[in-house]
Amino acid sequence: MEAKKSNYNQNHHAIFLPLPLQGHINPSINLSLKLASSKNFTVTFLTYDYLHHQITQAQPLKDSDDIFSRVREGPNRLDIRYRSISDGLPLDFDRNGTKLEEALGWYVDGKLIDFVMKGVEEIILNSNPKVDVLIIDSFYPWGSKIATKFGLRFVSFWTEPALVFNLYYHINLLKEHGHFDCPDTRKDPIDYIPGVKSLDPRDLTSYLQETNTSTNIHKILSQAFQDVKSAEFVLCNTIQELELDTILALQALIPFYAIGPTFRVCSPKNDISTNLLAESDCSEWLNAKPNASVLYVSFGSLAKLSKDDVMEIAYGLMESNIYFIWVLRPNIVLNDDGVLLPDGFKEGISDRGIVVPWTNQNAVLSHPAIGGFLTHCGWNSILESIWYGIPMLCFPVFTDQFTNRKLVVDNWKVGTNLCEEKQLRRKDIDIQIKSFMNQENVDEMKKNIKVVRYLLETALEDDGSSTKNLDIFVEQLNIHP
Ligand code: UDP
Repeated sequence: MEAKKSNYNQNHHAIFLPLPLQGHINPSINLSLKLASSKNFTVTFLTYDYLHHQITQAQPLKDSDDIFSRVREGPNRLDIRYRSISDGLPLDFDRNGTKLEEALGWYVDGKLIDFVMKGVEEIILNSNPKVDVLIIDSFYPWGSKIATKFGLRFVSFWTEPALVFNLYYHINLLKEHGHFDCPDTRKDPIDYIPGVKSLDPRDLTSYLQETNTSTNIHKILSQAFQDVKSAEFVLCNTIQELELDTILALQALIPFYAIGPTFRVCSPKNDISTNLLAESDCSEWLNAKPNASVLYVSFGSLAKLSKDDVMEIAYGLMESNIYFIWVLRPNIVLNDDGVLLPDGFKEGISDRGIVVPWTNQNAVLSHPAIGGFLTHCGWNSILESIWYGIPMLCFPVFTDQFTNRKLVVDNWKVGTNLCEEKQLRRKDIDIQIKSFMNQENVDEMKKNIKVVRYLLETALEDDGSSTKNLDIFVEQLNIHP
């Protein structure tokens, strides 16, 4: 990485504003590391006070430290700075739970942008080298406003698959054809989106399947995908060879660059913990289990399940007789009464399984004892699972997860569905888990994963597509002032 620095004499200074969610923060941190370590960027990572508060509760830091201190002070002396600003809401405001709709309103009604503008201005006034680039999550509806006001190059960062971007980008086309926001939504396949041969409406993102389209999230989507049209660059955490048709179609419309997967740059040497929840170490427990015998179960950082679903999963796991690690976040059920697991669960599973509030997912997935991943199909989880060669049992819950499931199960055949119906039943879970963890049944998926994993790996090599795309992005930044 160090050797490449000389090719990038021009020192850009980017303000990087990720969406304040774990699944967006992780790839944003990794891209920041990549830009700073191999492209001679100075990065100022902009975050919110409540997130900083959460991070410091999850992983105690010295007062003078932030999550990038280690890489700033480490052997490579990366110039990644860290600023946190107020978003105008109280620290303990339940932004992703009971007050989600109100918090989303903050994005669309012009309140949050005032705080961000102030933060950006402060960074610009005090910065050396001069800030010239804004890298902002594509979900923000007002990236262009900030970039224009401060004369910055506008780079949009999309952390989900290109296919999902493509669907949102063509939201008006979906509407015109009656697949979205219509009284009688069509149920036949969608075959008119550029670069998408055919898509079952059930594979649209949850927001595109909803009948009430007047929510704040719908306003954000429509504003954000209007705004992204004026981005000078869209960087996407995907791999060109994996989503070629979609990417080629998008490139005919906007400057779209596949630069993923971003996670690999987080080598142990410069690893930094990005967790918003304290992690439990599962390695000792895993060390005592046979190879490929443990099912890892996690629904990511955000998805809410019903209490009934959690109960059915618990019974399914208990009855399956399979080893498992289950990440059961404290806030996984909205308004829960503190009782999530059935009576007798602990005794029922004995040492066969452990339930933890959060863990180091990469460490778990890379452990030889892991044989399968029951996942909600978050995009980061999918990339990580492929990277470690772990087949997936898919239970999408909301947002892009339905579309991601299609890629995993139907296109790449590296996973299978937990259930065909949305309703979870313990008996089906039990049967599915047993069959999934029977290694003979996943042989085919394992073969396919090797192929897909190879694409990820080669994309990151020196002459790989993601490396080249990131190079082109930086060259374009240098050429056109
Ligand atoms: N993750 C983790 N520990 C856990 C669960 C998840 O470190 O116990 C990480 C996981 O590695 C991934 C991110 O959290 O990088 C979740 O992102 P994803 O896109 O999979 O799902 P989201 O949380 O956005 O729904």
